Amino acid sequence: MFGIFGNKKIADIDKESESLLFKPTINSSHDAVIIIRDRKSIIFSNHLMKKLKMIKTGTLVDDLEDIILFYTPVMKDWSSLDDLLDYHDKVNAPETTMFVGSKIKFDKKEIDGLSIQISTVTSEDNDTIFHIVLIHCPLEKINDARDIYHNALTGLPNQNRAYADISILTANTSPENSFAVIIMEMDNFAKIRSMAGYKEMNDLIILIANRLKELSKDERFKVYQLLHENFLIVVKDTQTINDIYEATDKINAIIESLKGMNPVYKHIGFSMGVSRYPQELTLDELLNGAYNALSRAKESGEGQIVISSAEKTEKKKLQLKDMITASDIKDALENEQFLLYFQPIINQPHFNIAGAEVLIRWKHPEKGMIFPDSFIPLAERNGMIVDITTYMLSKALKQMKNWKTFGFKPIELSVNLSAKDLDSDEFLPNLQALLNKYDIEPFRLKCEVTETASMINPTLTHKKLQAMKNMGIKISLDDFGTGYSSFAYLADFPIDSLKIDKSFIQDMNTNEKHKNIVSSMVKLAHTLGMNVIAEGVERKSDVKTLMEYGTDFFQGYFFSKPIPLLEFQHLLKNGIDVKI
Ligand code: C2E
Ligand code: CA
Ligand code: CA
Repeated sequence: MFGIFGNKKIADIDKESESLLFKPTINSSHDAVIIIRDRKSIIFSNHLMKKLKMIKTGTLVDDLEDIILFYTPVMKDWSSLDDLLDYHDKVNAPETTMFVGSKIKFDKKEIDGLSIQISTVTSEDNDTIFHIVLIHCPLEKINDARDIYHNALTGLPNQNRAYADISILTANTSPENSFAVIIMEMDNFAKIRSMAGYKEMNDLIILIANRLKELSKDERFKVYQLLHENFLIVVKDTQTINDIYEATDKINAIIESLKGMNPVYKHIGFSMGVSRYPQELTLDELLNGAYNALSRAKESGEGQIVISSAEKTEKKKLQLKDMITASDIKDALENEQFLLYFQPIINQPHFNIAGAEVLIRWKHPEKGMIFPDSFIPLAERNGMIVDITTYMLSKALKQMKNWKTFGFKPIELSVNLSAKDLDSDEFLPNLQALLNKYDIEPFRLKCEVTETASMINPTLTHKKLQAMKNMGIKISLDDFGTGYSSFAYLADFPIDSLKIDKSFIQDMNTNEKHKNIVSSMVKLAHTLGMNVIAEGVERKSDVKTLMEYGTDFFQGYFFSKPIPLLEFQHLLKNGIDVKI
C-alpha cells in the first residue's frame, strides 16, 4: 500500500495528505497508519489508528510514551515509539524495518500478534524526514483485546490465544529452534463430575489451572485452556524426545500433587498428545499432530503420552525435495525468497564474535522454511548453485557495507562455495566486481570450500584458491575429516582455516579415538600455519576440551544457532553471554 510513497519524492506530505487520493486510501486500510515528521510530530493518523487509541494528528512523539507502548521480539522489552524509530534509524534505515510478532499496550489493554512496519521517506530537498509507521492488526483483536483471549472461569489464555500464539511462533521460529505443543485432556471427566458435583468440578478446574499456571514461571512454558477439561501447553527448546518427557514429567508431577487434597481427586488423570516443531511446520500440522497423538493416547488407556510420529515427517521432507525444480530455484532467486541466516563464530579466550557463517534459508511462500539440504544438492546438479553463491555473496557483502555505514564493529563473514563455483570462469571476476561494488576489504570475506569439493580436481582447486588468496580473500577448508585430502595438497593449498567437521566434535565425549583425532587435527593445522574452527559445538564440556587443545574459534548451538539478521545484529551489539 505504500506505492504512493514509493518514488520517495514527496514534496510536501501535508499537501499529499489533503489530496483526494491519499486520505481515503489510507483511511480504508486494514492497517493502522501514522506518519511522523522529523521524529517530532504526528502529521497524519488514519481512522484505524484513532480507533485503536486516540492518536490524533498533531500529537508529539515524545508524548506517546504515556499513551501506548510496543513490545517487539527484537528489543525484547516494552519500548516507546521513539525507541522503535531509534532502532530503525540506527540499524535498518533506509530499508524497511518489520517487527513481526509484536504487541501493543494501552489503557491496561494488550493486543498481541501484530506486525509493525517502519519506513523512511525523505522530502525532495532532503530537508524533511518522514517516518511511516504501519501496524498490521486484525480487526477482531481491536474490538476486544482481552475477553476473547481468556477463559472466563480460570483466566487462562484460551484457544483463540493459543492458536494465534502458535501461528506467530511458526512464522518467527527458525527451523533450528524447536518447540512442542502438548494437548492434555482429563481422562475420566464425566466420572469425576458425577462424584464431585458441578460446582466442585469448577473449583477443581480452577485449582488445576492455577497449578498449571505455575509452569509459566519457567519461561519456556506457556499454558492455555482449550475447553473445560482440555489444556494446551507450548514448551520451547525441545530439541530431543527427552526434553519433551522432562516437560510431561513436570506436568504429571503437578497433577500428582493434587491427588492427596481430596478423596475424589485421586481419580484425576490426563492423557497427552504431543506434536513438535519443526517436525510439523504449520499451525494446522501441529494441532492435527497433537490431536491425533492424543486420540491414540486415549485409545491405549489412561494417563498415556503419545508423541506425534517423526517418520511421517521424514517422508514429507523427501517428497518436498522431489518436488523442487530448477525453475522453482530460479523463481526464488528472482523473488528474493532466499534469506541469509548468520551463525556466530566465537574466538577464545574472551568469547567475542569474530565473525559469522552465512547460511542459506529458503522462505517459500507455500512450503514454509526450507533447509539447504533439501535444495543445495539439486542446485549443484543443475548448475543453479553458481547463481545462488553469487546471490549469497552479494547479499553478504552488501550487509557488511551496511554495518560499516552504521558503525558496527567489523567482523569476518564466511560464505559457502561449491565445486561448481570453482569450475566456473565467471566466478572470480564476479566476486571481484562485488568486492569493488560494496567497497569491502577482501580479508573480511572468507570462502568455505569443503574438503571433498576441493579434492574433485585438486589442480584446478589450487589454481582458483591461489587466485582468491591473491585477491586478499581468506579461505577455509570446510567439513575437514570427512573427505580424503592428502597431506601434500593440504600443505600446498593456501588455506587460512581448517574447520573440523561437527561429526568429530559431537562424539568427542564418548569416542576417545575421535577426541584424539580432534587433538591431532588442531596440531596439524597449527603446524601448517592455519587456524582451527570447531563446528557443531553443542556442549560446555566440548568447549573446555577444545580450549585445552588450543582450538582458535568455535561455532555451534552452544553459542548460538544460525539466526536471522536482526537477531544477529542484536548479538553483535550486546555480545554473547557465555558461562564456562
Ligand atoms: P555446513 O557448511 O557444514 O554448515 C554448518 C551446518 O551445521 C549448518 O546447517 C548449521 O545449521 C549446522 N550447525 C551449526 N551448529 C551446529 C550444532 O551445534 N549442532 C548441529 N547438529 N548442527 C549445527 P545448515 O544451515 O542446515 O546447512 C547445511 C549445509 O548446507 C551446510 O553445511 C552447507 O554445506 C550447505 N549450505 C548452507 N548454506 C549454503 C550456501 O549459501 N551455499 C552453499 N553452496 N551451501 C550452503
Ligand atoms: Ca560451511
Ligand atoms: Ca561444515
